[in-house]
Amino acid sequence: MSLSGKTALITGSTSGIGLGVAKAMAAQGANILINGFGDADAIEAERAGLEKDYGVKALYSGADLTKPAEIEAMIKACEALGGVDVLVNNAGIQHVAPVEDFPPEKWDAIIALNLTASFHTVRLSFAAMKAKKWGRIINIASAHALVASPFKSAYVSAKHGLLGFTRTIALEGAEHGVTCNAICPGYVHTPLVDKQIPDTMKARNMTREQVIRDVILAAQPTKEFVTVEDIAALAVFLASDAGKSINGAPLSIDGGWTAA
Ligand code: NAD
Repeated sequence: MSLSGKTALITGSTSGIGLGVAKAMAAQGANILINGFGDADAIEAERAGLEKDYGVKALYSGADLTKPAEIEAMIKACEALGGVDVLVNNAGIQHVAPVEDFPPEKWDAIIALNLTASFHTVRLSFAAMKAKKWGRIINIASAHALVASPFKSAYVSAKHGLLGFTRTIALEGAEHGVTCNAICPGYVHTPLVDKQIPDTMKARNMTREQVIRDVILAAQPTKEFVTVEDIAALAVFLASDAGKSINGAPLSIDGGWTAA
């Protein structure tokens, strides 16, 4: 399962799932570029921690992925580590509101980050992967790439779009040693989920406990959150040589949510 000698770029990796994937890939020997927002000292501690704990090189890019020029600079920064071998499109945001109240600027921001940013990262790293005859693109989609929930129109649209994009890139890379897959998690207890609890309380007129029990975990037959570590382990497998024949797949990791 070694990723030694590879470079992994994980977007939105200052928190939650992305940070977990970055650590798991570093543990397999990959050099890492982390990206995302947050407190500068905390981010530097994470970056330095990857180098110290796993003996790999780690860079940080603060690129705002809603801005194509900043994405281009981030991909260029990876050249110092030999270029992107494993691209994990993970950065994402959420907004919960009935469609008639959904702010257009929130719609635009969600489509820009959760869908269009992946087009730009792939667009800018694909030729180099093809030239190396090796590449792994892992899009962190969602169960919401496969099924809908009310009040999440932009998110569900972006994630369904991301799955279509995944399948297209899988076909374009298939004869070049480049795979592209979508991991489709159910609910994982990260800051992204925590932040949507107040909006869901408002939209559905529920208490916090009701939202967790009757909305969030109601969707998941196991009645348990998926863990960041579960997702990171799947991402590492997809990145490994053992994952080379998995291509264009939506990989559900949702405790049975989409089995229903
Ligand atoms: P999170 O909020 O913990 O992390 C999001 C990351 O994206 C952070 O590092 C943040 O700084 C970064 N980010 C936000 N805006 C950005 C921008 N404009 N440019 C660059 N980086 C930006 O979220 P998470 O729960 O870890 O989610 C990660 C991914 O997993 C998302 O795509 C999300 O849709 C998906 N997902 C999450 C869950 C869940 O239950 N948490 C379920 C299914 C899918």
